[in-house]
Amino acid sequence: MKRRQFLSGAAVAGATAAAASTFAKPAIAQDVREWRMVTTWPKNFPGLGTGANLLAEYITKASEGRLKVTVFGAGEIVPAFEAIDAVGNGTVEMGHGAPYYWKGKVDATQYIAAMPFGLNAQEQNAWFQWGGGQELADKVYAELNCKFFPSGNTGTQMGGWFNKEMNTIDDYKGLKMRIPGLGGEVVKAAGANVVNLPGGEIPPALQSGAIDATEWVGPYNDLAFGLYKSAKYYYYPGWHEPATVLDNFINLDAWNALPDDLKAIVEQANRAVNQMVLSEFTARNVQALDTLRNKHGVDVRPFSDDILTGLGKLSGEVLRDLVSSNPLSQEVFESLIAFRTQSIAWSKFSEAAFAQARVLPFKY
Ligand code: CA
Repeated sequence: MKRRQFLSGAAVAGATAAAASTFAKPAIAQDVREWRMVTTWPKNFPGLGTGANLLAEYITKASEGRLKVTVFGAGEIVPAFEAIDAVGNGTVEMGHGAPYYWKGKVDATQYIAAMPFGLNAQEQNAWFQWGGGQELADKVYAELNCKFFPSGNTGTQMGGWFNKEMNTIDDYKGLKMRIPGLGGEVVKAAGANVVNLPGGEIPPALQSGAIDATEWVGPYNDLAFGLYKSAKYYYYPGWHEPATVLDNFINLDAWNALPDDLKAIVEQANRAVNQMVLSEFTARNVQALDTLRNKHGVDVRPFSDDILTGLGKLSGEVLRDLVSSNPLSQEVFESLIAFRTQSIAWSKFSEAAFAQARVLPFKY
């Protein structure tokens, strides 16, 4: 009896202490989290920076302010390429950028960003959602102490801006080009001097001649940077970035500490933004391309089959060679290659076949 009385007394004391602490701090204030999101983009940059803004807005609104996210542009808290460190070490809770910017830290991130001659946007999203891609990306980002979400996709990019004609793969020899990720590795293997610059540093580098050529994204973003002012030719397609993934990376400890409802809000906000960003590029690239060609007189040219075949062959060799010394990259690469094979097999009967059918010379 004595022991029982003691236990019930302790329970009452505990309940009283809990009640006291509840009254001491309003429940709503305890429950509010304020997160900072650093980005690799110039603040409010079309499609990319505004995609990050949209993510912050969705999360803040859907959580009714319980998770309030504030966005910072490149350089406001940390330089663009240090965003992942700031998130991984807990300086800030969240970031937005592109996975290949972290290749110097974890090599496998660049396979998640974009694979030369790889998947289109729909296939890439199918890989994340139904092909094991999310789990693999989480495994890769755990090395950076981050949780990963796909958070936007640019769709197929353009090949880039050049000041000389590109006719054969030999034309890459000695070319000083800004091109990130695996595309950069391929172009380097073709003999180019490759540099990686964050977006904001591209226009002055091209203008001053510090680089001979650059790729950025596509008409919508390239027009915004005025790249047409410093280059003669605009080549397509972006074989190197058929559907570049943007990433939302979250400090793993901050993520694990979120209650399930806020986790679900962050997950669904990313799904919405992933789609909204891709839709924005799809809707706006065509108008921007028209402006580039008809207002600014840009010379838009296709890469020849010869150059694409050369780059394609080189891509396979370079990628296989790169992953041979990195088991995590190899795991991601093999998964993507299997999904690519499957996607091509279906596309022949669906989207690729339809794309050809739609442009047959009939009146509509
Ligand atoms: Ca690009």
